[in-house]
Amino acid sequence: MTDLGKAPCFGADDCNHDPEQAARVIKRRALALGADMVGIGSIDRWQGAPIQMDPKQIMPECRSIIAMGFRVMRGSLRGVEEGTYFSNYSAMGYGGITYLYMPMTVIDLSRFIEDRGYEAIPMGHQSDWRAIDNEGQLKPQFSRPVAAGRAAPDIMVQLRIAGFLCGLGEIGWSKMLLTPEFGPRQRVGIILTDLPLAPDPIYDGPTLCNRCMACVQACPGGCIPKDDAVNAELAGHQVSWANVNMQGCDMTFRGAQRPADGEPAGPAYETWWDGQKLRPGDWSPFYEKPRNLYNTGQAVCGARGCTRACMMSMERRGVLKNRFHEPFRRREPWSVDWSAPDPNATTAAADGSQTD
Ligand code: SF4
Ligand code: SF4
Repeated sequence: MTDLGKAPCFGADDCNHDPEQAARVIKRRALALGADMVGIGSIDRWQGAPIQMDPKQIMPECRSIIAMGFRVMRGSLRGVEEGTYFSNYSAMGYGGITYLYMPMTVIDLSRFIEDRGYEAIPMGHQSDWRAIDNEGQLKPQFSRPVAAGRAAPDIMVQLRIAGFLCGLGEIGWSKMLLTPEFGPRQRVGIILTDLPLAPDPIYDGPTLCNRCMACVQACPGGCIPKDDAVNAELAGHQVSWANVNMQGCDMTFRGAQRPADGEPAGPAYETWWDGQKLRPGDWSPFYEKPRNLYNTGQAVCGARGCTRACMMSMERRGVLKNRFHEPFRRREPWSVDWSAPDPNATTAAADGSQTD
């Protein structure tokens, strides 16, 4: 058990707080606890953030934000790439990191900070309670401010933008955080704290997103436009990314699509919120949408555009530090023909094993 009375400060014997030293200690600790990367941003970088996304609305005395990146294993994308094993990405590459591994690490680092007398808020994905929707609009009849001038609960601190403002990498055209280590292949957790820490510079290394548009071409729902950009100024930097169709992504990433007018219904993959029966897209081999893993892991599309295509593009360009002996794509990409008979059914009929 931690001896709270004896928890040392950050290396200065006289507790004359040194933000540089404290930042070094925090980073060492974050990596030792299981983060793959860590960066620090000073709170002034969020100046001008919309009120519903302003971390100072959560912690007015916040001085520093610590962002940690947790890699999605390249191997977790393998089974989707081969078309044979989809659950690993949704479980180990998505829900398991988001709802298990990352919270444990940000909580442990927050304990380390609070043992030294500074407050720390461990934050991951608490999106379900946020007051704004995917388009940044207040959800009707969801919540109200507790007093004039305060945001409606809950605030949403954008984790990818936090990664950018803490120096981890760039925002790519796909709206994903791209880092020099893993490209688009990580998830981000953050800590808000009143601990003064020396910030890292905003990423200024080799260009990561070269606008190759591989993400645009490979997204199965066409959710990443080629020409429609969102422009923002983040800590004095002009940043732009695609105006991603988030509602389209919400449907497509589960493996679903709306049937075209007059198209036979086919398997009822999922019933959408507007009551329409959706059909499986050619990027899903499932008759019905599989149930979620770790709460929200349901990424049947296996991030085909925004992660897999982008990662392959960046690997080919040689800009990533996490290198592999073999290229990721080793066989022709697959696609399910839902108008054709199920190969298992025809095999069973041919060998007489079908029972009826
Ligand atoms: S696929 Fe190309 S355009 Fe899209 S985010 Fe990655 S590097 Fe940028
Ligand atoms: S998660 Fe899937 S549907 Fe959404 S943008 Fe990425 S590739 Fe497209």
